[in-house]
Amino acid sequence: MKSFRKELWFETDKRRDFINITPDVEDCLKESGIKEGLLLCNPMHITSSIFINDDESGLHKDFELWLEKLAPEKPYSQYNHNGYEDNADAHLKRTVMGREVVVAVTGGKLDFGRWEQIFYGEFDGKRKKRVLVKIIGE
Ligand code: ZN
Repeated sequence: MKSFRKELWFETDKRRDFINITPDVEDCLKESGIKEGLLLCNPMHITSSIFINDDESGLHKDFELWLEKLAPEKPYSQYNHNGYEDNADAHLKRTVMGREVVVAVTGGKLDFGRWEQIFYGEFDGKRKKRVLVKIIGE
């Protein structure tokens, strides 16, 4: 069995953003040479998410509005976590959107459904953050 590990770095200009990282993940898969197996992708931070969904701008605005209703960024004082930090909302948003994705690798490709794409969801950005890609198989 082969094993491949790589870290990808992302830095958003905004506090919150969604980035389609599917091409970066596909590059990792190519580099790994693995044709059959499983690919795991997760942020190495607790205020960002990796999730799979549609690359459609309306949906991304819907996610932003929905997450702001669930866990509004402000007022910062509404959260127990905020004191030295102001990112309680980002921890909550990340939990809703999930930590990681696992994708089947078949014939050297990500074995996706028609509209599936991998996204990096940033909820406390403006700094460099790492995403882990781990692939096992043969
Ligand atoms: Zn925090």
